[in-house]
Amino acid sequence: MRVVLPGGSIGVLGGGQLGRMLALEAKRMGYRVGVLDPVAGCPAAQVADFHLQAPLHDSEAALELSTRVDVVTLETELVPFAVLARLEAATPVRPGASVLHTIQDRLRQKEFLQAAGFPQAPFAPVHDPRCVQEAAQAVGFPAVLKSRRGGYDGKGQAFVPDPGALERAWQSIGGRPAVLETLVPFKMEIAVILARGVQGEIRVYPLAENVHKRRILHTTRVPARVPERTRREAERLACGIAETLGHVGVMAVEMFVLDDDTVLVNEIAPRTHNSGHYTFGACVTSQFEQHLRAICGLPLGDPSLLSPAVMVNLLGDLWLEGTPRWEAVLSRRNARLHLYGKAEARVGRKMGHVLIVNTDADRALREAEEIVAALRAEAGSSSAQDLPPG
Ligand code: AMP
Repeated sequence: MRVVLPGGSIGVLGGGQLGRMLALEAKRMGYRVGVLDPVAGCPAAQVADFHLQAPLHDSEAALELSTRVDVVTLETELVPFAVLARLEAATPVRPGASVLHTIQDRLRQKEFLQAAGFPQAPFAPVHDPRCVQEAAQAVGFPAVLKSRRGGYDGKGQAFVPDPGALERAWQSIGGRPAVLETLVPFKMEIAVILARGVQGEIRVYPLAENVHKRRILHTTRVPARVPERTRREAERLACGIAETLGHVGVMAVEMFVLDDDTVLVNEIAPRTHNSGHYTFGACVTSQFEQHLRAICGLPLGDPSLLSPAVMVNLLGDLWLEGTPRWEAVLSRRNARLHLYGKAEARVGRKMGHVLIVNTDADRALREAEEIVAALRAEAGSSSAQDLPPG
């Protein structure tokens, strides 16, 4: 296996904030970075060495990217697996097309988890309104309807309180092939961030405790407040998933913890993840450096926590009335501001995040809420961050 050492080139499919932070870490380590993304001036293109402006399904453009780099990776699972399969013939692609094939269709992902014996909420496919009633028989209510493809941050999802609401929910997500799953009465959401190297070695980050608002990640608290047994079970599941998939790179596995401490898998992301942003500042090796190490065939870095920490997302809502009051973050010595360089702020759009390090993670959580409130003070009162769930 050829190792890609600093000085080599990395190709990234997708140019959002994950690609940007990957590029920042890659540049720090002396790599060259090329990005494929349809948007001029996208977050990653602002720090990359070169940008090919084309859609992610443009396999000719992806092929061109691959000829200019030593290894290709991705920052979104929306890249069609067939595009990756085409590149794989000539260039290392990590993670590979087979991982994407399993993950990027929500139904296939769930069938994979089921076949491999990983616990998850009951689910059923919904191909068209006619099978909606069959699905209703297999799944308990209330339930959530999720489109099989393309959904993120709660997009393409609809709450289904009872079987009678199914048809309307299906129309509301565009009448697309979907999966119906039981709404899980979780007491906590957690995420395992890990990296798996080319030789199969795995490093696991400290467990993240997540709070979502309107199905968008709001805060991550580390370490998560779970018993040791729950942490071990979550890690066992995530490592098993990465191994079964033959994944290479960082992977995030989002999970639900039930009242009796049962752990259910919610979703797999075969890439760096918002739940792992805390690692960029609070761990010895950030998830972005770790991903590079994994895809380049380097030894994996130390995932240890340097300090308990909280990450809070900054959504476009904060920009409604103008630029947020950055002093609210910058005046705090233990807070680090990350902005993604997005040209347009929209409600619910992730524009940046703040990392708060504090030996007292509960205190950090309070500080995170104080910061968001203070940033918002002059930005008007309506915000997705305080709308009710759903
Ligand atoms: P997802 O895009 O599937 O990760 O969903 C986003 C968020 O919606 C999750 O993090 C949960 O907060 C919520 N959610 C999704 N699916 C379920 C479910 N089956 N039961 C309860 N909450 C869910």
